[in-house]
Amino acid sequence: MRILVTGAAGFLGSHLSDRLLADGHTVVGMDNLLTGSLDNIAHLRANERFQFVRHDVTNPIELPGTLEGVFHFASPASPIDYLKLPIQTLKVGSLGTHKTLGLAKAKGARMLLASTSEVYGDPLVHPQPETYWGNVNPIGPRGVYDEAKRFAEAMTMAYHRHHGVDTRIVRIFNTYGPRMRASDGRVVSNFIVQALRGEPLTVYGEGLQTRSFCYVDDLVEGIVRLFHKGKADPVNIGNPVEFTVRELADIVRRQIGSKSQIVFEPLPEDDPKQRRPDITRAETELGWKPAVKLEEGLQRTIDYFRRALAA
Ligand code: UDP
Repeated sequence: MRILVTGAAGFLGSHLSDRLLADGHTVVGMDNLLTGSLDNIAHLRANERFQFVRHDVTNPIELPGTLEGVFHFASPASPIDYLKLPIQTLKVGSLGTHKTLGLAKAKGARMLLASTSEVYGDPLVHPQPETYWGNVNPIGPRGVYDEAKRFAEAMTMAYHRHHGVDTRIVRIFNTYGPRMRASDGRVVSNFIVQALRGEPLTVYGEGLQTRSFCYVDDLVEGIVRLFHKGKADPVNIGNPVEFTVRELADIVRRQIGSKSQIVFEPLPEDDPKQRRPDITRAETELGWKPAVKLEEGLQRTIDYFRRALAA
């Protein structure tokens, strides 16, 4: 297949591109490099089945030739990014999704939308099944991301129902791995980088909020399965093993052998108190569940950051 990946120079987009190329597909990687980096796809430049196009997908996309698949992964995705880039975040989720769906419709391509556990907001149902409608503050600081993705889901379903486009929606839960940026701001990268630098680990609030962390290779496997065998209804992909942020800090310190202190900083506004995917749908429809344990995935990520920080 010839497949377009938007956000191809980002953390997930680059891993997804690697996987699609390894599966024998041809990949057009698109990115405006707002939060992505060419370093993430430097190893693909020599691959003749990979083409990079620098483009902002909130503008019309003109792509000559046939296209069988679209993966819409372009978006700021870290809380510090979407707080800094609120309008771009809203635009890429709304206008960008509209443009990629329009392209998929014109080309007769299947379209997979990268959505997020943030559609559940600060959830009142735990763990979160796909049938839960969420608890989102539309005008809070995270609203720009949460509502953009909720709009993107609505737009994707409208193109599916109204135009008959073959669509998929993946709701991605916290994911980590190599190629996260040292300054990404996410908890896993922050803790690893802080511990490696011998700096204090910044725990927000009391650290009693929970998250479940999925290793990037597991996530990509789930997404590829969803693309090939799934249906239009959203599917949660994430790791259902839940940790408090405080527990994560201890695990990272232990694994690095770090003596870093823990410092407590204010909890960001609307920070979800708990989050864990119900992955029954992914298990039954896709035969998918994560295989990489936290310690193993963390080790690979720590090894990556050791090299990245030394470079
Ligand atoms: N967090 C933290 N210290 C950090 C970064 C994040 O305690 O240096 C917390 C954050 O408040 C949240 C959780 O870790 O409760 C996960 O944050 P992240 O930004 O990784 O993703 P989120 O799930 O909030 O989108």
